[in-house]
Amino acid sequence: MKTAEQHRMKRLIGLVLILVLIPFYLIPRMAYSWGFYAHRNINREAVLALPEPLGDFYKKNIDYITLHATDPDKRRYVDSTEAPHHFIDLDHYGSKSFDKIPHYWSAAVDMYSADTLQKYGTLPWATLEWENKLMLAFKKKDVTEILRASSYLGHYVADAHVPLHTIANYNGQKTEQQGIHALWETAIPQTYGNDYNYNNCKAVYIKNPEEEIWNILRQSYALAPATLKAEKAARSAFMGKDIYLDSQHKKFLPGYIETFNKDLNGMVEKQMRASISDVASFWYTAWVNAGQPDITKIKVQ
Ligand SMILES: [Zn+2]
Repeated sequence: MKTAEQHRMKRLIGLVLILVLIPFYLIPRMAYSWGFYAHRNINREAVLALPEPLGDFYKKNIDYITLHATDPDKRRYVDSTEAPHHFIDLDHYGSKSFDKIPHYWSAAVDMYSADTLQKYGTLPWATLEWENKLMLAFKKKDVTEILRASSYLGHYVADAHVPLHTIANYNGQKTEQQGIHALWETAIPQTYGNDYNYNNCKAVYIKNPEEEIWNILRQSYALAPATLKAEKAARSAFMGKDIYLDSQHKKFLPGYIETFNKDLNGMVEKQMRASISDVASFWYTAWVNAGQPDITKIKVQ
């Protein structure tokens, strides 16, 4: 009797420990994503990049699609399974990672196990899951689900364009460059985004979304070393000076942001433009693959 009680107690303590430790394990990763400004702009501009008649439907719902671009980030705070959807540490898998990781979820699980994939991020598979959900929503002509799936899909496709979402050193924590993540995806777009040129962003049909999301990640991964190098150069230029505006080290000096942005040579604008075209393309492809349902007959809310 006593043993059974001790056993139960041990299990209870174990459960409490897991519940207490899980959020701490996830916290470092939870705070990162394109900032709200960038996500909302990307979804908004993607609506304008769509061809008719699809564009007309999305334009009627542009406020919803814009506002809900950040829903997956908010969900991370209430759903512990959400965090891995926003990144993939490609460098964990070795230098020839793209040749090794199966592009389909079940094959990837067979090779690495679901636990390992969750630990190092599931961004490509989350994107494909929502691409499929959007296609099914179009087939059903379910307007609520079309809007929800479009918002989520837009978010994940945009996250795939952030170089720091593809490496384990996602916040420069391994190279004494803490803060680089928010600098790249929040401070720079917020400071310079209003002057970015979004002309000529256009949706195209994606023949193979399973390959395309990996192409996007391959390009982002290739930009990660230049991202870290540019910030290192900015840090050297400010050697001995305080680069922070606040004691929590969350806000950077405007001059520091400017130097880092200059060293990046237009990279953030380029990635935002690519995000817009690719978000629109994934939406458009889901509609085409659903058999191009008559969008004019879908009742707008
Ligand atoms: Zn995100």
